[in-house]
Amino acid sequence: MEVYSNQVNKLIEELNSLPGIGGKSAQRIAFHLLNMPKEKVFELSDTIKKTRESIRYCACCMTLTDKEICPICSSDKRDKRTIMVVEDSRDLAAYERTGKYEGVYHVLHGAISPMLGIGPSDIHLKELIKRLEADVDELIIATNSSLEGETTAMYISKLVKPTGIKVTRIASGVPVGGDLECIDEVTLLRALEGRVEL
Ligand code: ZN
Repeated sequence: MEVYSNQVNKLIEELNSLPGIGGKSAQRIAFHLLNMPKEKVFELSDTIKKTRESIRYCACCMTLTDKEICPICSSDKRDKRTIMVVEDSRDLAAYERTGKYEGVYHVLHGAISPMLGIGPSDIHLKELIKRLEADVDELIIATNSSLEGETTAMYISKLVKPTGIKVTRIASGVPVGGDLECIDEVTLLRALEGRVEL
Protein backbone atom coordinates (compact mmCIF):
# COMPACT_ATOMS: atom_id res chain seq x y z
CA MET A 1 0.00 0.00 0.00
CA GLU A 2 1.26 3.44 -0.92
CA VAL A 3 1.69 5.66 2.14
CA TYR A 4 1.32 8.95 0.26
CA SER A 5 -0.65 9.88 -2.82
CA ASN A 6 1.09 9.53 -6.18
CA GLN A 7 1.43 13.28 -6.52
CA VAL A 8 3.10 13.62 -3.11
CA ASN A 9 5.41 10.71 -3.93
CA LYS A 10 6.38 12.41 -7.17
CA LEU A 11 7.24 15.62 -5.30
CA ILE A 12 9.37 13.68 -2.79
CA GLU A 13 11.15 11.87 -5.63
CA GLU A 14 11.91 15.11 -7.47
CA LEU A 15 13.27 16.77 -4.34
CA ASN A 16 15.30 13.63 -3.61
CA SER A 17 17.01 13.94 -7.00
CA LEU A 18 18.53 17.32 -6.04
CA PRO A 19 22.13 17.41 -4.78
CA GLY A 20 22.53 17.02 -1.03
CA ILE A 21 18.89 16.12 -0.38
CA GLY A 22 18.40 12.59 0.91
CA GLY A 23 15.15 10.69 1.30
CA LYS A 24 14.32 12.02 4.76
CA SER A 25 15.07 15.64 3.87
CA ALA A 26 13.00 15.26 0.71
CA GLN A 27 10.02 14.15 2.80
CA ARG A 28 10.54 16.97 5.29
CA ILE A 29 10.72 19.62 2.56
CA ALA A 30 7.74 18.15 0.72
CA PHE A 31 5.53 18.34 3.80
CA HIS A 32 6.85 21.75 4.70
CA LEU A 33 5.83 22.96 1.22
CA LEU A 34 2.41 21.35 1.51
CA ASN A 35 1.81 23.09 4.82
CA MET A 36 2.85 26.49 3.50
CA PRO A 37 0.18 28.98 2.33
CA LYS A 38 -0.67 28.30 -1.30
CA GLU A 39 0.46 31.76 -2.48
CA LYS A 40 3.90 31.26 -0.92
CA VAL A 41 4.36 27.95 -2.71
CA PHE A 42 3.24 29.47 -6.03
CA GLU A 43 5.66 32.35 -5.49
CA LEU A 44 8.53 29.91 -4.97
CA SER A 45 7.70 27.79 -8.01
CA ASP A 46 7.25 30.97 -10.04
CA THR A 47 10.71 32.23 -8.99
CA ILE A 48 12.30 28.92 -9.98
CA LYS A 49 10.52 29.01 -13.34
CA LYS A 50 11.35 32.65 -14.09
CA THR A 51 15.00 32.22 -13.09
CA ARG A 52 15.38 29.17 -15.27
CA GLU A 53 13.73 30.90 -18.21
CA SER A 54 15.87 34.03 -17.99
CA ILE A 55 19.23 32.39 -17.35
CA ARG A 56 21.75 31.85 -20.14
CA TYR A 57 25.47 31.83 -20.81
CA CYS A 58 27.26 35.18 -21.10
CA ALA A 59 28.17 35.51 -24.78
CA CYS A 60 31.71 36.37 -23.74
CA CYS A 61 32.79 34.42 -20.63
CA MET A 62 30.08 31.72 -20.58
CA THR A 63 29.08 32.32 -16.97
CA LEU A 64 25.42 31.97 -16.04
CA THR A 65 23.67 35.31 -16.28
CA ASP A 66 20.34 36.82 -17.27
CA LYS A 67 21.92 39.28 -19.70
CA GLU A 68 23.53 38.89 -23.13
CA ILE A 69 26.84 40.01 -21.57
CA CYS A 70 27.36 39.47 -17.83
CA PRO A 71 28.05 42.42 -15.44
CA ILE A 72 31.74 41.48 -15.11
CA CYS A 73 32.40 41.37 -18.86
CA SER A 74 30.47 44.60 -19.42
CA SER A 75 32.24 46.52 -16.62
CA ASP A 76 34.87 49.00 -17.84
CA LYS A 77 36.67 48.66 -14.52
CA ARG A 78 37.75 45.10 -15.27
CA ASP A 79 41.05 44.28 -16.96
CA LYS A 80 40.05 42.42 -20.13
CA ARG A 81 43.67 41.43 -20.81
CA THR A 82 43.74 39.04 -17.86
CA ILE A 83 41.46 36.01 -18.13
CA MET A 84 40.98 33.50 -15.33
CA VAL A 85 39.74 30.08 -16.42
CA VAL A 86 37.45 28.33 -13.91
CA GLU A 87 35.38 25.15 -14.05
CA ASP A 88 32.00 26.63 -13.13
CA SER A 89 30.12 29.77 -12.15
CA ARG A 90 30.41 28.91 -8.44
CA ASP A 91 34.20 29.11 -8.71
CA LEU A 92 33.83 32.52 -10.33
CA ALA A 93 31.61 33.57 -7.41
CA ALA A 94 34.26 32.37 -4.93
CA TYR A 95 36.93 34.58 -6.55
CA GLU A 96 34.53 37.50 -6.76
CA ARG A 97 33.95 37.26 -3.01
CA THR A 98 37.66 37.96 -2.43
CA GLY A 99 37.03 41.37 -4.05
CA LYS A 100 40.67 41.49 -5.15
CA TYR A 101 40.64 40.05 -8.63
CA GLU A 102 40.32 42.71 -11.32
CA GLY A 103 40.52 40.65 -14.47
CA VAL A 104 37.74 38.78 -16.25
CA TYR A 105 36.86 35.07 -16.31
CA HIS A 106 36.16 32.21 -18.63
CA VAL A 107 33.83 29.48 -17.36
CA LEU A 108 34.37 26.03 -18.86
CA HIS A 109 31.34 24.33 -17.27
CA GLY A 110 33.28 21.18 -16.57
CA ALA A 111 36.72 19.67 -16.86
CA ILE A 112 38.32 17.13 -19.16
CA SER A 113 37.85 13.62 -17.82
CA PRO A 114 38.88 10.67 -20.00
CA MET A 115 37.37 8.34 -17.38
CA LEU A 116 33.93 9.94 -17.68
CA GLY A 117 34.30 10.37 -21.42
CA ILE A 118 34.41 14.18 -21.20
CA GLY A 119 36.73 15.51 -23.87
CA PRO A 120 37.94 19.03 -24.77
CA SER A 121 34.97 19.57 -27.10
CA ASP A 122 32.52 18.88 -24.24
CA ILE A 123 33.57 21.96 -22.26
CA HIS A 124 33.61 25.61 -23.40
CA LEU A 125 37.19 25.62 -24.67
CA LYS A 126 36.43 26.67 -28.24
CA GLU A 127 34.97 29.92 -26.92
CA LEU A 128 38.09 30.52 -24.84
CA ILE A 129 40.46 30.02 -27.77
CA LYS A 130 38.35 32.46 -29.80
CA ARG A 131 38.72 35.08 -27.05
CA LEU A 132 42.49 34.78 -27.21
CA GLU A 133 42.45 36.38 -30.67
CA ALA A 134 41.94 39.70 -28.86
CA ASP A 135 44.74 41.31 -26.84
CA VAL A 136 45.35 39.08 -23.84
CA ASP A 137 48.37 39.38 -21.54
CA GLU A 138 47.77 36.51 -19.17
CA LEU A 139 45.64 33.41 -18.89
CA ILE A 140 45.31 32.24 -15.27
CA ILE A 141 44.22 28.63 -15.06
CA ALA A 142 42.22 28.18 -11.86
CA THR A 143 40.66 24.78 -12.46
CA ASN A 144 40.37 22.51 -9.40
CA SER A 145 43.39 20.58 -8.20
CA SER A 146 41.62 17.28 -8.90
CA LEU A 147 42.91 14.91 -11.58
CA GLU A 148 40.36 16.37 -14.03
CA GLY A 149 41.31 19.94 -13.14
CA GLU A 150 45.01 19.24 -13.62
CA THR A 151 44.39 17.42 -16.91
CA THR A 152 42.41 20.41 -18.14
CA ALA A 153 45.11 22.85 -17.01
CA MET A 154 47.80 20.91 -18.88
CA TYR A 155 45.65 20.65 -21.99
CA ILE A 156 44.94 24.40 -22.08
CA SER A 157 48.57 25.24 -21.34
CA LYS A 158 49.82 23.13 -24.28
CA LEU A 159 47.21 24.67 -26.53
CA VAL A 160 47.87 28.29 -25.61
CA LYS A 161 51.63 28.44 -25.02
CA PRO A 162 52.54 28.56 -28.74
CA THR A 163 50.54 31.81 -29.04
CA GLY A 164 53.02 33.54 -26.72
CA ILE A 165 50.34 34.49 -24.19
CA LYS A 166 51.57 34.08 -20.61
CA VAL A 167 49.90 31.03 -19.02
CA THR A 168 49.89 30.69 -15.25
CA ARG A 169 48.44 28.18 -12.80
CA ILE A 170 47.13 29.09 -9.35
CA ALA A 171 49.43 27.82 -6.60
CA SER A 172 48.85 24.48 -5.01
CA GLY A 173 47.92 24.91 -1.40
CA VAL A 174 44.39 24.67 -2.54
CA PRO A 175 43.59 21.23 -1.05
CA VAL A 176 43.82 18.40 -3.55
CA GLY A 177 40.44 17.57 -5.01
CA GLY A 178 38.98 20.52 -3.14
CA ASP A 179 36.23 22.39 -4.84
CA LEU A 180 37.23 26.03 -5.20
CA GLU A 181 33.88 27.23 -3.90
CA CYS A 182 34.46 25.55 -0.52
CA ILE A 183 37.77 27.29 0.10
CA ASP A 184 38.01 30.44 2.19
CA GLU A 185 38.93 33.76 0.61
CA VAL A 186 42.39 34.03 2.19
CA THR A 187 43.42 30.66 0.76
CA LEU A 188 42.03 31.61 -2.64
CA LEU A 189 43.91 34.90 -2.65
CA ARG A 190 47.12 33.16 -1.62
CA ALA A 191 46.66 30.64 -4.43
CA LEU A 192 46.10 33.48 -6.90
CA GLU A 193 49.05 35.58 -5.73
CA GLY A 194 51.34 32.54 -5.68
CA ARG A 195 50.48 31.50 -9.22
CA VAL A 196 53.34 30.14 -11.31
CA GLU A 197 54.03 30.35 -15.01
CA LEU A 198 53.47 27.10 -16.90
ZN1 ZN B 1 30.78 37.41 -18.98
